Amino acid sequence: MIIVMKPEATTAELEAVKNKITDAGLNFHLSQGSSRTIVGVIGDKKKFATLQMNSFGGVEKTVSITEKYKLVSRDFKKEDSIIDVNGVKIGGGHLAIMSGPCAVESKEQLLEAAKAVKACGAQFLRGGAFKPRTSPYDFQGLAEEGLKMLREVADEVGLNVVTEIVNINDLDMICKYADMLQIGARNMQNFQLLKEVGHTNKPVLLKRGLSATISEWLNAAEYIASGGNYNIVLCERGIRTYETFTRNTLDLSAVAAVKELSHLPIIVDPSHGTGRWQMVRPMARAAIAAGADGLMIEVHPHPEVALSDGDQSLKPDNFAVVMQEVRQIAQMMGKTL
Ligand code: PEP
Ligand code: MN
Repeated sequence: MIIVMKPEATTAELEAVKNKITDAGLNFHLSQGSSRTIVGVIGDKKKFATLQMNSFGGVEKTVSITEKYKLVSRDFKKEDSIIDVNGVKIGGGHLAIMSGPCAVESKEQLLEAAKAVKACGAQFLRGGAFKPRTSPYDFQGLAEEGLKMLREVADEVGLNVVTEIVNINDLDMICKYADMLQIGARNMQNFQLLKEVGHTNKPVLLKRGLSATISEWLNAAEYIASGGNYNIVLCERGIRTYETFTRNTLDLSAVAAVKELSHLPIIVDPSHGTGRWQMVRPMARAAIAAGADGLMIEVHPHPEVALSDGDQSLKPDNFAVVMQEVRQIAQMMGKTL
Protein backbone atom coordinates (compact mmCIF):
# COMPACT_ATOMS: atom_id res chain seq x y z
CA MET A 1 0.00 0.00 0.00
CA ILE A 2 1.21 3.47 -0.86
CA ILE A 3 0.10 6.84 0.45
CA VAL A 4 0.71 9.75 -1.90
CA MET A 5 0.94 13.05 0.01
CA LYS A 6 -0.19 16.33 -1.59
CA PRO A 7 2.62 18.63 -2.76
CA GLU A 8 1.45 21.20 -0.17
CA ALA A 9 1.20 18.69 2.72
CA THR A 10 2.74 20.08 5.91
CA THR A 11 5.28 18.39 8.17
CA ALA A 12 2.59 18.08 10.86
CA GLU A 13 0.24 16.32 8.43
CA LEU A 14 3.00 13.89 7.45
CA GLU A 15 3.77 13.26 11.13
CA ALA A 16 0.12 12.46 11.80
CA VAL A 17 0.11 9.94 8.95
CA LYS A 18 3.32 8.32 10.21
CA ASN A 19 2.00 8.09 13.76
CA LYS A 20 -1.25 6.50 12.63
CA ILE A 21 0.70 3.82 10.75
CA THR A 22 3.09 2.97 13.57
CA ASP A 23 0.31 3.08 16.19
CA ALA A 24 -1.47 0.41 14.14
CA GLY A 25 1.63 -1.76 14.33
CA LEU A 26 2.55 -1.25 10.67
CA ASN A 27 5.88 -0.09 9.22
CA PHE A 28 6.66 2.50 6.56
CA HIS A 29 9.42 3.77 4.28
CA LEU A 30 9.45 7.34 3.00
CA SER A 31 10.29 8.46 -0.51
CA GLN A 32 10.93 12.20 -0.66
CA GLY A 33 10.40 13.20 -4.30
CA SER A 34 11.06 16.64 -5.75
CA SER A 35 7.41 17.69 -5.42
CA ARG A 36 5.77 15.26 -3.01
CA THR A 37 6.36 12.63 -0.37
CA ILE A 38 5.29 9.03 -0.84
CA VAL A 39 4.77 6.75 2.13
CA GLY A 40 5.17 3.03 1.44
CA VAL A 41 3.33 1.05 4.08
CA ILE A 42 4.45 -2.46 4.94
CA GLY A 43 2.30 -4.93 6.82
CA ASP A 44 -1.18 -6.40 6.94
CA LYS A 45 -3.39 -4.99 4.14
CA LYS A 46 -6.60 -5.55 6.11
CA LYS A 47 -5.28 -3.52 9.02
CA PHE A 48 -4.30 -0.73 6.65
CA ALA A 49 -7.82 -0.63 5.20
CA THR A 50 -9.21 0.18 8.67
CA LEU A 51 -7.01 3.29 9.02
CA GLN A 52 -9.01 5.40 6.52
CA MET A 53 -5.90 7.23 5.44
CA ASN A 54 -7.73 9.06 2.64
CA SER A 55 -9.48 11.17 5.26
CA PHE A 56 -6.20 12.47 6.68
CA GLY A 57 -5.09 16.04 5.98
CA GLY A 58 -2.37 16.29 3.35
CA VAL A 59 -3.16 12.88 1.81
CA GLU A 60 -3.85 13.00 -1.92
CA LYS A 61 -4.64 9.32 -2.42
CA THR A 62 -3.83 5.79 -1.35
CA VAL A 63 -2.78 3.22 -3.92
CA SER A 64 -2.94 -0.51 -3.50
CA ILE A 65 0.00 -2.25 -5.15
CA THR A 66 -0.69 -5.62 -6.68
CA GLU A 67 2.96 -6.62 -6.92
CA LYS A 68 4.54 -7.60 -3.63
CA TYR A 69 7.58 -5.38 -4.13
CA LYS A 70 7.04 -1.76 -3.14
CA LEU A 71 10.23 0.05 -2.21
CA VAL A 72 11.88 -0.69 -5.55
CA SER A 73 8.76 0.10 -7.60
CA ARG A 74 8.08 3.15 -9.76
CA ASP A 75 4.84 3.64 -7.86
CA PHE A 76 6.88 4.30 -4.75
CA LYS A 77 9.39 6.59 -6.44
CA LYS A 78 8.80 8.26 -9.80
CA GLU A 79 12.32 9.63 -10.34
CA ASP A 80 15.18 7.39 -11.48
CA SER A 81 17.42 6.44 -8.58
CA ILE A 82 21.04 7.45 -8.93
CA ILE A 83 23.46 5.19 -7.09
CA ASP A 84 26.68 6.87 -6.06
CA VAL A 85 29.76 4.72 -5.60
CA ASN A 86 32.62 6.91 -4.38
CA GLY A 87 31.49 9.74 -6.64
CA VAL A 88 30.73 7.54 -9.67
CA LYS A 89 27.05 7.90 -10.46
CA ILE A 90 24.94 5.10 -11.94
CA GLY A 91 21.47 5.81 -13.35
CA GLY A 92 19.51 8.96 -14.14
CA GLY A 93 21.58 9.63 -17.26
CA HIS A 94 24.93 8.44 -15.88
CA LEU A 95 26.42 5.31 -17.44
CA ALA A 96 28.70 2.95 -15.53
CA ILE A 97 31.13 0.52 -17.15
CA MET A 98 32.32 -2.45 -15.08
CA SER A 99 35.06 -4.45 -16.73
CA GLY A 100 37.85 -6.89 -16.04
CA PRO A 101 38.46 -10.61 -16.06
CA CYS A 102 35.90 -13.21 -15.07
CA ALA A 103 38.21 -14.42 -12.30
CA VAL A 104 41.18 -12.85 -10.57
CA GLU A 105 44.04 -15.15 -11.59
CA SER A 106 47.23 -13.24 -10.78
CA LYS A 107 48.41 -9.72 -10.04
CA GLU A 108 49.94 -9.43 -13.53
CA GLN A 109 46.76 -10.54 -15.29
CA LEU A 110 44.62 -8.19 -13.20
CA LEU A 111 46.90 -5.18 -13.58
CA GLU A 112 47.09 -5.59 -17.35
CA ALA A 113 43.30 -5.84 -17.59
CA ALA A 114 42.74 -2.94 -15.20
CA LYS A 115 45.05 -0.58 -17.06
CA ALA A 116 43.37 -1.46 -20.35
CA VAL A 117 39.80 -0.92 -19.14
CA LYS A 118 40.70 2.27 -17.28
CA ALA A 119 42.30 3.68 -20.42
CA CYS A 120 39.00 3.11 -22.26
CA GLY A 121 36.92 4.87 -19.60
CA ALA A 122 35.62 2.07 -17.36
CA GLN A 123 35.00 3.19 -13.75
CA PHE A 124 34.82 -0.27 -12.12
CA LEU A 125 37.21 -3.20 -12.05
CA ARG A 126 35.33 -6.48 -11.96
CA GLY A 127 36.84 -9.85 -11.10
CA GLY A 128 35.73 -12.83 -9.07
CA ALA A 129 37.71 -14.07 -6.09
CA PHE A 130 34.98 -16.59 -5.21
CA LYS A 131 33.74 -18.25 -8.39
CA PRO A 132 30.40 -20.10 -8.47
CA ARG A 133 31.52 -22.76 -10.99
CA THR A 134 29.26 -25.43 -12.45
CA SER A 135 31.93 -28.09 -11.89
CA PRO A 136 33.73 -28.50 -8.55
CA TYR A 137 36.89 -29.39 -10.52
CA ASP A 138 37.04 -25.96 -12.20
CA PHE A 139 39.05 -23.02 -10.84
CA GLN A 140 37.23 -21.78 -7.74
CA GLY A 141 38.99 -18.43 -7.28
CA LEU A 142 41.82 -17.07 -5.14
CA ALA A 143 39.56 -16.07 -2.20
CA GLU A 144 41.01 -13.37 0.10
CA GLU A 145 44.29 -13.30 -1.81
CA GLY A 146 42.26 -12.35 -4.89
CA LEU A 147 40.37 -9.65 -2.99
CA LYS A 148 43.68 -8.10 -1.90
CA MET A 149 44.87 -8.05 -5.49
CA LEU A 150 41.64 -6.40 -6.60
CA ARG A 151 42.00 -3.66 -4.00
CA GLU A 152 45.69 -3.04 -4.70
CA VAL A 153 45.31 -2.95 -8.46
CA ALA A 154 42.14 -0.84 -8.37
CA ASP A 155 43.83 1.70 -6.08
CA GLU A 156 46.91 1.80 -8.26
CA VAL A 157 44.92 2.35 -11.45
CA GLY A 158 42.07 4.44 -10.02
CA LEU A 159 39.00 2.19 -10.27
CA ASN A 160 36.21 0.98 -7.98
CA VAL A 161 36.04 -2.74 -7.16
CA VAL A 162 32.93 -4.81 -7.82
CA THR A 163 33.22 -8.46 -6.82
CA GLU A 164 30.93 -11.37 -6.09
CA ILE A 165 29.89 -12.62 -2.68
CA VAL A 166 28.70 -16.23 -2.57
CA ASN A 167 28.74 -16.91 1.17
CA ILE A 168 27.23 -14.80 3.99
CA ASN A 169 30.18 -15.66 6.22
CA ASP A 170 32.49 -13.73 3.87
CA LEU A 171 30.47 -10.51 4.07
CA ASP A 172 32.69 -8.55 6.48
CA MET A 173 35.84 -9.64 4.70
CA ILE A 174 34.58 -8.73 1.22
CA CYS A 175 33.23 -5.38 2.47
CA LYS A 176 36.79 -4.51 3.56
CA TYR A 177 38.08 -4.78 -0.01
CA ALA A 178 35.12 -4.08 -2.30
CA ASP A 179 33.28 -0.88 -3.23
CA MET A 180 30.30 -2.80 -4.57
CA LEU A 181 29.03 -6.31 -3.81
CA GLN A 182 27.93 -8.48 -6.70
CA ILE A 183 25.20 -11.01 -6.09
CA GLY A 184 25.41 -13.48 -8.94
CA ALA A 185 22.69 -15.19 -10.94
CA ARG A 186 22.95 -18.37 -8.89
CA ASN A 187 22.37 -16.50 -5.65
CA MET A 188 19.62 -14.13 -6.74
CA GLN A 189 17.16 -15.98 -4.54
CA ASN A 190 19.55 -16.71 -1.68
CA PHE A 191 17.22 -14.81 0.63
CA GLN A 192 19.48 -15.05 3.66
CA LEU A 193 22.31 -13.46 1.69
CA LEU A 194 19.97 -10.75 0.34
CA LYS A 195 18.80 -9.91 3.88
CA GLU A 196 22.35 -9.66 5.23
CA VAL A 197 23.49 -7.46 2.36
CA GLY A 198 20.38 -5.34 2.98
CA HIS A 199 21.67 -4.57 6.46
CA THR A 200 24.87 -3.02 5.10
CA ASN A 201 25.09 0.23 3.18
CA LYS A 202 27.40 -1.18 0.49
CA PRO A 203 26.15 -0.69 -3.06
CA VAL A 204 24.90 -3.98 -4.51
CA LEU A 205 24.91 -5.26 -8.09
CA LEU A 206 22.05 -7.75 -8.26
CA LYS A 207 22.22 -10.02 -11.28
CA ARG A 208 19.12 -11.66 -12.70
CA GLY A 209 18.74 -15.36 -11.86
CA LEU A 210 19.19 -17.91 -14.63
CA SER A 211 15.46 -18.56 -14.84
CA ALA A 212 14.05 -15.67 -12.84
CA THR A 213 11.06 -13.67 -13.99
CA ILE A 214 11.34 -9.89 -13.78
CA SER A 215 8.92 -9.95 -10.86
CA GLU A 216 11.06 -12.48 -8.95
CA TRP A 217 14.14 -10.38 -9.65
CA LEU A 218 12.50 -7.19 -8.36
CA ASN A 219 11.30 -9.07 -5.29
CA ALA A 220 14.90 -10.12 -4.67
CA ALA A 221 15.86 -6.43 -4.85
CA GLU A 222 13.03 -5.69 -2.41
CA TYR A 223 14.66 -8.05 0.11
CA ILE A 224 17.77 -5.83 0.04
CA ALA A 225 15.83 -2.55 0.13
CA SER A 226 13.57 -3.69 2.98
CA GLY A 227 16.67 -4.11 5.13
CA GLY A 228 17.42 -0.41 4.59
CA ASN A 229 19.95 -0.63 1.76
CA TYR A 230 18.62 1.24 -1.28
CA ASN A 231 21.94 1.25 -3.12
CA ILE A 232 20.94 -1.38 -5.65
CA VAL A 233 21.83 -1.69 -9.33
CA LEU A 234 20.20 -4.49 -11.36
CA CYS A 235 22.10 -6.44 -14.02
CA GLU A 236 20.48 -8.34 -16.90
CA ARG A 237 22.84 -11.21 -17.75
CA GLY A 238 20.73 -13.49 -19.92
CA ILE A 239 18.28 -16.22 -19.07
CA ARG A 240 17.98 -19.94 -19.89
CA THR A 241 15.91 -20.70 -22.95
CA TYR A 242 15.77 -23.55 -25.49
CA GLU A 243 18.47 -21.81 -27.56
CA THR A 244 21.86 -23.51 -27.48
CA PHE A 245 23.94 -21.40 -29.87
CA THR A 246 24.36 -18.79 -27.16
CA ARG A 247 25.20 -19.56 -23.52
CA ASN A 248 22.10 -17.62 -22.42
CA THR A 249 19.45 -15.56 -24.16
CA LEU A 250 20.13 -11.91 -23.43
CA ASP A 251 16.77 -10.36 -22.60
CA LEU A 252 17.14 -6.74 -23.62
CA SER A 253 13.40 -6.25 -23.27
CA ALA A 254 14.04 -6.59 -19.53
CA VAL A 255 15.72 -3.18 -19.66
CA ALA A 256 12.53 -1.54 -20.89
CA ALA A 257 10.40 -3.58 -18.49
CA VAL A 258 12.52 -2.68 -15.46
CA LYS A 259 12.48 1.00 -16.46
CA GLU A 260 8.68 0.85 -16.42
CA LEU A 261 8.37 -1.07 -13.16
CA SER A 262 11.24 0.22 -11.05
CA HIS A 263 13.27 3.33 -10.29
CA LEU A 264 16.47 1.30 -9.87
CA PRO A 265 19.28 1.56 -12.43
CA ILE A 266 19.82 -1.47 -14.66
CA ILE A 267 23.02 -2.43 -16.48
CA VAL A 268 23.55 -5.24 -19.00
CA ASP A 269 26.17 -7.99 -19.12
CA PRO A 270 26.51 -9.10 -22.75
CA SER A 271 29.44 -11.40 -21.84
CA HIS A 272 27.45 -13.89 -19.75
CA GLY A 273 24.36 -12.93 -21.74
CA THR A 274 25.77 -14.47 -24.92
CA GLY A 275 28.83 -16.51 -23.91
CA ARG A 276 30.52 -15.51 -27.19
CA TRP A 277 33.02 -12.68 -27.45
CA GLN A 278 31.96 -12.02 -31.05
CA MET A 279 28.48 -11.06 -29.86
CA VAL A 280 29.52 -8.78 -27.00
CA ARG A 281 30.07 -5.76 -29.23
CA PRO A 282 26.67 -5.66 -30.98
CA MET A 283 24.80 -6.52 -27.77
CA ALA A 284 26.66 -3.82 -25.83
CA ARG A 285 25.57 -1.27 -28.42
CA ALA A 286 21.99 -2.53 -28.32
CA ALA A 287 21.90 -2.45 -24.51
CA ILE A 288 22.82 1.21 -24.33
CA ALA A 289 20.38 2.03 -27.14
CA ALA A 290 17.65 0.18 -25.20
CA GLY A 291 18.22 2.50 -22.23
CA ALA A 292 20.57 0.53 -19.98
CA ASP A 293 22.50 2.51 -17.38
CA GLY A 294 25.75 0.75 -18.08
CA LEU A 295 27.53 -2.44 -18.98
CA MET A 296 29.44 -5.27 -17.37
CA ILE A 297 31.95 -6.70 -19.85
CA GLU A 298 34.59 -9.37 -19.29
CA VAL A 299 38.02 -8.33 -20.52
CA HIS A 300 41.10 -10.55 -20.32
CA PRO A 301 44.58 -9.67 -21.62
CA HIS A 302 44.90 -13.24 -22.96
CA PRO A 303 41.47 -14.88 -23.23
CA GLU A 304 42.96 -18.04 -24.78
CA VAL A 305 44.60 -18.95 -21.45
CA ALA A 306 41.85 -17.61 -19.13
CA LEU A 307 40.97 -19.88 -16.22
CA SER A 308 37.29 -19.10 -16.72
CA ASP A 309 35.03 -17.66 -19.42
CA GLY A 310 37.78 -17.11 -22.01
CA ASP A 311 35.28 -17.68 -24.84
CA GLN A 312 33.26 -14.64 -23.87
CA SER A 313 36.12 -12.35 -22.81
CA LEU A 314 37.21 -9.47 -24.99
CA LYS A 315 40.83 -8.64 -25.68
CA PRO A 316 41.69 -5.06 -24.69
CA ASP A 317 41.79 -3.80 -28.29
CA ASN A 318 38.29 -5.13 -28.99
CA PHE A 319 37.05 -3.60 -25.75
CA ALA A 320 38.41 -0.24 -26.89
CA VAL A 321 36.31 -0.46 -30.08
CA VAL A 322 33.19 -1.34 -28.07
CA MET A 323 33.76 1.64 -25.79
CA GLN A 324 34.18 4.01 -28.72
CA GLU A 325 30.84 2.90 -30.16
CA VAL A 326 29.12 2.95 -26.78
CA ARG A 327 30.27 6.53 -26.28
CA GLN A 328 28.67 7.57 -29.56
CA ILE A 329 25.38 5.91 -28.69
CA ALA A 330 25.50 7.36 -25.18
CA GLN A 331 25.88 10.82 -26.62
CA MET A 332 22.90 10.28 -28.89
CA MET A 333 20.87 9.12 -25.88
CA GLY A 334 21.90 12.23 -23.91
CA LYS A 335 23.79 10.18 -21.33
CA THR A 336 27.16 10.84 -19.74
CA LEU A 337 30.02 8.40 -19.61
C1 PEP B 1 30.27 -13.26 -13.15
O1 PEP B 1 29.90 -12.10 -13.33
O2 PEP B 1 31.44 -13.61 -13.13
C2 PEP B 1 29.25 -14.32 -13.00
C3 PEP B 1 29.53 -15.51 -12.49
O3 PEP B 1 28.05 -13.95 -13.49
P1 PEP B 1 26.61 -14.61 -13.35
O4 PEP B 1 26.30 -14.67 -11.90
O5 PEP B 1 25.75 -13.66 -14.13
O6 PEP B 1 26.70 -15.97 -14.00
MN1 MN C 1 32.40 -15.00 -15.94
